[in-house]
Amino acid sequence: MRLDDAAAAALGPDGPLARNDGYEYREEQVQMARAVAQALDRRRRLVVEAGTGVGKSLAYLVPLVLWANRTQGRAVVATHTVNLQEQLVDHDLPALSHLTRAPVPAALLKGRNHYISLRRWERFLARPDVQGRTVDVDAIRFKLKVLTWLTQTASGDRSELRLSAEEEPLWRRVASDREDCLGSACANWGSRRCHMVAARSRAADAAIIVTNHALLLAGAERQGQVLPSYSALVVDEAHHLEAAATQQLGSSLRGFDLALVLDRLPAQPGTSVADAIDRCRDAGHRLFGDSKGLLIEQLGGEAAGNGRIGLSAALRDDPGFTLLLKAGRHAVGVLLETAALLEQTVEAQGLQTDLLPQPQRADDELELSAVALRGIAATIDHVVCRPREGFVAWLELRAEQSELHEAPIRVAEPLRQLIYEHCDSVTLTSATLAVAGSFAFIRDRVGIGEAAEELALASPFDFLNQALRVLPDSVPPYDDAAHDAVIAEMVGGIAERLDGHTLVLFTGYGPLRRVHALLQQRLERHRISLLGQGLDGTRRQILRSFLEDPRTVLLGTNSFWEGIDIPGERLRCVVIDKLPFAVPTDPLIRARTEGLRDPFAQYILPMAVIRLRQGFGRLIRGRADRGAVVLCDERLSRRDYGDVFLRALPPAAEERAPLEDIPDLVARFALAEPRKPL
Ligand code: SF4
Repeated sequence: MRLDDAAAAALGPDGPLARNDGYEYREEQVQMARAVAQALDRRRRLVVEAGTGVGKSLAYLVPLVLWANRTQGRAVVATHTVNLQEQLVDHDLPALSHLTRAPVPAALLKGRNHYISLRRWERFLARPDVQGRTVDVDAIRFKLKVLTWLTQTASGDRSELRLSAEEEPLWRRVASDREDCLGSACANWGSRRCHMVAARSRAADAAIIVTNHALLLAGAERQGQVLPSYSALVVDEAHHLEAAATQQLGSSLRGFDLALVLDRLPAQPGTSVADAIDRCRDAGHRLFGDSKGLLIEQLGGEAAGNGRIGLSAALRDDPGFTLLLKAGRHAVGVLLETAALLEQTVEAQGLQTDLLPQPQRADDELELSAVALRGIAATIDHVVCRPREGFVAWLELRAEQSELHEAPIRVAEPLRQLIYEHCDSVTLTSATLAVAGSFAFIRDRVGIGEAAEELALASPFDFLNQALRVLPDSVPPYDDAAHDAVIAEMVGGIAERLDGHTLVLFTGYGPLRRVHALLQQRLERHRISLLGQGLDGTRRQILRSFLEDPRTVLLGTNSFWEGIDIPGERLRCVVIDKLPFAVPTDPLIRARTEGLRDPFAQYILPMAVIRLRQGFGRLIRGRADRGAVVLCDERLSRRDYGDVFLRALPPAAEERAPLEDIPDLVARFALAEPRKPL
């Protein structure tokens, strides 16, 4: 039987999957499975948009499993979120175990920083937590937590630890890190105690490897060292591929990164190594101090918050840049000198070797630190001193710390060279890839090529019956002083009528905080919880609270626009404060739009359309869901491009109404019984 027929039969009402709990025949799913199977068979490339509810995971996993079983080939499935990776490996792939006579082995391989490095952990454990009268309570607590966990974990995967935001910097000291890994010279490598090595060797034995976008690129760059060779690739959540590639192929540097490398070496005081390390610290302080000074000078009033400045040719000519340039050159020189010194140091002279996790490997430690310092020097050189062709460099202020960044302007060519050309078959898929019915934008951004076939599958949900989109009249423009108060008043009214069950999506923390402050007392009076991202807990914490008690209004920013699943009656209304346009003055956006005939139409608008479709998609997650999406940006009605957004959304019923009528309108629709199909 042909592969596409076999995949269609497996998903059909008489197929083996029909015996699984919750099975539902979906025409669109079968169509997608056939297309993926044909791409595998014919060694083609494919781009598939599959709306919510198509069941796209099974639509690509079924043909992949059948193909791997027939050909003994290996496939990689790369997703953006860990949640989806875990769902594929823990739920979807096991459900396919009876599809083939012999099971097709599958493995989950996360990014290496998800796994603890036992060598780095030993070093961290040996580090004193009391200095003078100062006791590092956070470090002691973290050590106790990890010590307990290490007695239980089989995977060494941080997801079992449930780290708090405060513990993240501590985890960075013990996570597996390419720049601080002794590789086969490490005692934990040969013994297979290393969790990262164990995860990679499970992947090497698997026919289907589930991983993330970034690792796909890390694997490609280091030719087989991370991922074993494979001939079929499916990239899910592919609307994130450009951003993931940008991050993976770019570099960034914080003062903390330099400190992490310098802290690794327990130098004997008074030795040349100790002096060189001190000089590196001083050079780092000067560099990050001067970059912060330039950021504050350039950002002006915005300096209190976060901000970015692009290191354009004009800024590099500005006298204010001279100080930073000098500091950058100085830092590069000092770091390279230190790296050379570490490389020349014999028998670890100048090091307190007894404080190293593997004292007999002190020379390797020195060499590794030298490589890391050379890498840091290269980043400083590229960002500050000698910008590279095809890259954009910027400084960023975040939590009052300055950071250096560099990113490729286009990733299409590296993706083609590093990934697609090495695979026989590539499928890119997501619920949101097309803009105004065309895949031209995503094709161009990720370089999948003209020859790739296309398939667009609408959601099987009955949006006309299940969803209402509401456009309130006369919401003041986003930059009007009255805007936030109007949004808070409307959200308060909706929440009272729906008893919470409302998600409000913002594009930034400023308006989120203001609306939170305006809503707090009103919702308290009605005993409705109010949860603001970053104000009342982390994303994960407030999402869990919402799922447990939907008598809640949840205010979220960027990371809530996608990747969250709140099915059923818990979510009855999504309010979208503002169209999610990228900031055109952002250095990366500016570099990417420079030279375009119409930067807005060719880049900013398509990106925002995809993002809005993601936000809208939070509402209807199943056939029984019902609710309203309130689109508050008045530009949807006023600007020509408003129609581009509205046409891109699922075909829900639409109402335009005065502001004061919105809460009743939303409640009438969201709380009504769904119409029975005729
Ligand atoms: S092999 Fe590398 S990641 Fe694993 S424990 Fe050793 S240093 Fe850490």
